Amino acid sequence: RKADLAMYQAKKLGKNRFHYFDESLERLAIHRVKTEESLREAINNNEFILYYQPKIQIDQPQEKLVGVEALIRWKKEDGSLIFPDNFIPIAEKCGLIKSLTKWVITEACKQLKQWKNTHLANIPISVNISAIDITDPDFVESTLSILETYDIPKHLINLELTESVLFDDINTVNVKLKELHRNHITISLDDFGTGYSSLSYIQELQIDFLKIDKSFIFAMSKSKKSLAIVKSIIDMGNNLGMTVIAEGVETLEDKEILIKAHCHIAQGYLYSRPVEASKLEQLYGQ
Ligand code: C2E
Ligand code: CA
Ligand code: CA
Repeated sequence: RKADLAMYQAKKLGKNRFHYFDESLERLAIHRVKTEESLREAINNNEFILYYQPKIQIDQPQEKLVGVEALIRWKKEDGSLIFPDNFIPIAEKCGLIKSLTKWVITEACKQLKQWKNTHLANIPISVNISAIDITDPDFVESTLSILETYDIPKHLINLELTESVLFDDINTVNVKLKELHRNHITISLDDFGTGYSSLSYIQELQIDFLKIDKSFIFAMSKSKKSLAIVKSIIDMGNNLGMTVIAEGVETLEDKEILIKAHCHIAQGYLYSRPVEASKLEQLYGQ
């Protein structure tokens, strides 16, 4: 069993290598099994909560809220929050991600319904989707059926996917995206610039929003190269008719750079951290 753990670690780090077993591998394996168990319980006990981060239009004189991104948190009994990077990869590995995604979409729909007659009506919610979701044959149908159950206009749900979804089978992904598009569900390509960023799929796939990865935004005020990349991504998105979103916008200086470069939408701590629905209502609901 220990040799097995070492072998998995070797495989994880790449081909043609060996790895010794040590105690830390065992601790990691135990941690994963424990998290997996409590994740299963957490789904049954409804221990998750969605936080929302505003997306602000910056290419108009009057800045306004044009959408929110739903970001999941796991709320422990003691009130502490666990961030998604600590459990989403495990949920993906152990097959729990599909139920988690379903929960997120359902929760987003409930929220949209609650906002129906408020100032937040018609503000779309973006939901993060894993590569595993999009390859699930039932994904489109099950998403549409959730929207129908809560009577939510389909254009109010946006799906954020990273380039990792394209590692699988681009044709299958393309068929899925077209099906979603036919149903007026919009698609954002998340973390753009960090994966393979192949230009051939960009021209093939049905993508409405391009999200520039925050690492470029963090660096652009100090690095000429990062700035050049940001400007080029914005130009490319604009020329392809996509709406470009910059994430990780933390300073006024960043915002000014982005406005000058003709970026449409900004998201980041400059406007707000991800917050609970009630806080978002306080900030933008009146
Ligand atoms: P992401 O989709 O790229 O989300 C953006 C992350 O950057 C969020 O971290 C957000 O809190 C953070 N962020 C936003 N603005 C700023 C800023 O100005 N400065 C800095 N330093 N950070 C900023 P979070 O909430 O911890 O989420 C991490 C990742 O977990 C997300 O990255 C997404 O890939 C994943 N994730 C979150 N919710 C879900 C979900 O419901 N389902 C799935 N499959 N993945 C999720
Ligand atoms: Ca995202
Ligand atoms: Ca992102």
